[in-house]
Order: sequence, then structure tokens, then C-alpha cells
Amino acid sequence: AVEVELSGRTRILTVSNQKGGVGKTTTAVNMAAALASIGARVLVIDLDPQGNASTALGVAHHADTPSIYDVLINEVPLVDIVQTSPESPRLLCAPSTIHLAGAEIELVSQVAREHRLRGALRDYLAIEDNHLDFVIIDCPPSLGLLTINAFTAADEVMIPIQCEYYALEGLSQLLGSVQMIQKHLNPTLHVSTILLTMYDGRTRLAQQVADEVRSHFTREVLETVIPRSVRVSEAPSFGQTVIAYDGQSAGAIAYREAAVEIVARDTTEKDS
Ligand code: ADP
Ligand code: MG
Repeated sequence: AVEVELSGRTRILTVSNQKGGVGKTTTAVNMAAALASIGARVLVIDLDPQGNASTALGVAHHADTPSIYDVLINEVPLVDIVQTSPESPRLLCAPSTIHLAGAEIELVSQVAREHRLRGALRDYLAIEDNHLDFVIIDCPPSLGLLTINAFTAADEVMIPIQCEYYALEGLSQLLGSVQMIQKHLNPTLHVSTILLTMYDGRTRLAQQVADEVRSHFTREVLETVIPRSVRVSEAPSFGQTVIAYDGQSAGAIAYREAAVEIVARDTTEKDS
């Protein structure tokens, strides 16, 4: 395993993009598993009612499973619902269940509705031995109260971008949302990381989109790109991330390289 130096503080990233099917969930779970594989302790919070992140991490998330829904709506402590992925003792998941579909509406009438997740995480991290190096939040595509809870709890936004036509469409809306959250709810929130994904280097289009994204976002885009790979898309049907499913595949190698970059970039920022 690669040895990396962790900062000792908890970095909270939310994986967001208002487009569906761009690789948010795939990135959340594989980046988390890659970070765990290089020594980090990582919690994935599944905020999507579809529960695809919970499935990929191999944790229970049937209707009766205590879940992030209970944390947001019933004030159940996060520590009571977190499960450990069978893949690694350092890879944890706060699962989503079907009940989360109703949370968007139920939250509307709740006190401190935008701060529920932030408060739950703060309480979790205050418990001895619950140190986390990373929290990675998988968001649904819409900008509803679930996503707003993620933005309020996080410091960093990670945006996966699919290297296809219209890749940048909707991005200005997302950046506008981040600004709005900065102003009203969470001044520390910023876009720290952009990851080019489902990259097919054989096509000119993918290269053009990659160049365009890099020229717009000179600091944020990771050097590593995630290739389009069948192994990446197969892994969830085995209840696994690609790191466990086929650790030597191109997709697994790319996610590990991206994870090393994410860890390293934080250290660089502190020094400068
Ligand atoms: P989102 O969460 O943004 O809706 P997903 O992560 O669910 O997107 O990805 C959408 C689809 O693309 C899924 O079927 C997933 O398996 C596939 N996919 C994501 N990344 C890759 C990749 N690098 N190679 C091949 N397929 C991918
Ligand atoms: Mg998803």
C-alpha cells in the first residue's frame, strides 16, 4: 500500500453535480475506498434515497436498517447508524434507505433544517476514537434540502465531470448554488476538486472537453483522469468498489492516484 501523510484534521467533501449519471456515486465510493486503501479512515454518507453508495459499499440498507434518515429526521446519533464496509475496517458508511425519499419534504417543517447533518457530524467527531480523515457525502442530483445539508456540513465540493458534450452545462448553476451557501449558511465551503471521469482518451471530444475544463479551472482539476472502464461499472453489482473488485484494473489504479493527489494537495495548500 502507498504510504501518505495525513493532516490529522477531518476533511469533509461533498460530491456534487446537478446532472445525473455523471459519476457522483461512483466517485464517492471509489475515492473513499482508495483513500482507505492508502491509510485514511473514511466515512461515506449516502444522502441519495436510491442508496447506490450503500449498495456499492456492501452495507445493509433495507427499509428497517437504521439510516441517515433517522439521523436527519429523528435525531438519532450518527454513531448509532454507521456501519463498517466488509472491504476495510477503515471504510465506514452511513447508509441511506428508501425512507430518505420522504426526508426532503419532512425536513421543511423542522427546526435548523439546513444544519441537521452538520450537527450530527460534529457530535460524531466529538466522541473519542471516532477520528476520521475524510468524510465523503454522496448527494442526489437536485438542489433540495438534502443537498443543502451536505453543503452546510462540508468544507469542500468535489465535482465529477464527464468528458462528453454539454459537460459544462449546469456547472454555472452549481457554482451559483455554492456561492449562495457560502453567503448564507457556510462561509468555508469552496470547490476544491474537479475530477474528469469516464474519460475515453481515444476520442478527440474527450480531449477537447478535458482541455476546456482545465482552462476554466486551472487549480481545481486533478491531474489524474478516471478512464471509462467496464470494471468500474461492474463492481457495484457485486456489492463492491472497484478497489476491492479488481484492484489492478485501470479504474482502480486511477482512483488510487487521484486519492494520493487529494491528500497531497491539502498539505501543499497549508504550506503556501
Ligand atoms: P451519478 O451518481 O452522478 O448519477 P453514477 O456514479 O451512478 O452517476 O454513474 C452513472 C453510470 O455511469 C453508472 O452506471 C456507472 O456504473 C457508470 N460509470 C461511472 N463511472 C464510470 C467509469 N469510470 N467507467 C465506466 N462506467 C462508469
Ligand atoms: Mg448517484
